[in-house]
Amino acid sequence: MPPSPATVIVLRRVPFSETSLVLTLFSREFGKIQGLAKGARRPKSAFEGGFDLLGIYRIVFLPRSGESLQLLTEGKLVERFRPEAAGLRGLFAGYYLAELLDSFTPEMGPHAEVFDLAVLTLRQLQTGARAEWATLRFEVALLRALGHLGRFDACSVCGRVIPWQEPARLTETGGGLTCNRCWRPSIRGLSITGAVRKAIHDLSRVVSSAEVEGRQPVAEESTSEDKLALPGRPTGQSVALTAAANAEESSAPASPAFGLEREVNHSYELADVYPQVRGLVSHWVCHLLGRKPRLFPFLEKMGFFAKPAGRATTQ
Ligand SMILES: [Zn+2]
Repeated sequence: MPPSPATVIVLRRVPFSETSLVLTLFSREFGKIQGLAKGARRPKSAFEGGFDLLGIYRIVFLPRSGESLQLLTEGKLVERFRPEAAGLRGLFAGYYLAELLDSFTPEMGPHAEVFDLAVLTLRQLQTGARAEWATLRFEVALLRALGHLGRFDACSVCGRVIPWQEPARLTETGGGLTCNRCWRPSIRGLSITGAVRKAIHDLSRVVSSAEVEGRQPVAEESTSEDKLALPGRPTGQSVALTAAANAEESSAPASPAFGLEREVNHSYELADVYPQVRGLVSHWVCHLLGRKPRLFPFLEKMGFFAKPAGRATTQ
């Protein structure tokens, strides 16, 4: 097979022999790749930058069918992961993202939208802004993209769109909602509020490429009021979350929408739903993995499983 170029995120790097590296990479074009970079630990090699963890690289590899390790021939750094400004929260959230990608994605199974989402999330984590929501969105959108999560806006029995004001029952792990009309006492199910459902629904939306490039999608041009509608502020009908760390300023450049969009006639306070959404998502991740993620204790220490601070509003 001819040499194949790919854009990748480095998920894992293990030294191999004196000078080489075995890499787990997540590529936009081919999904997860296990690769061998011969001589990558030499000061001068065909691999510029030495493959830092969570860095984005442009590589060329020789596909070897039937082999688990692909042979890398080139590697060039595109974007380093620098969470220094964000501190340990950003760093551990980044490691967690790598663990999830490595655990959930199959080898050679491309998911371009998951790659784009990972890039967007890594950039967000480096700003230090709302790392807990960036992480939640990554988890929810990842599970949705890989088919592990059902719809949160409609009943899985009758197909009816369930108004956000209405509670519904979660009858299966990771989806399978039942509306009030279809639910029978014989069906076991956890009741979840419209606000929690709406938050999960909003988080599960797959990002657009415009968002990844930091442009505001044309259809989502919004008024300055929309851009200012941040969590933790009294916002009337709705809240929205934006990616830029400096989005608190109305003069901030058009910031990429972060996934929780303005929705007329619906109101929820992000800080209020966070613990429930976090609890559900943690449960799904553990259930699907069949174990607790290795990074969970670190995220817990960093306060990811507590209610986010900074709420400045009262109802
Ligand atoms: Zn129904």
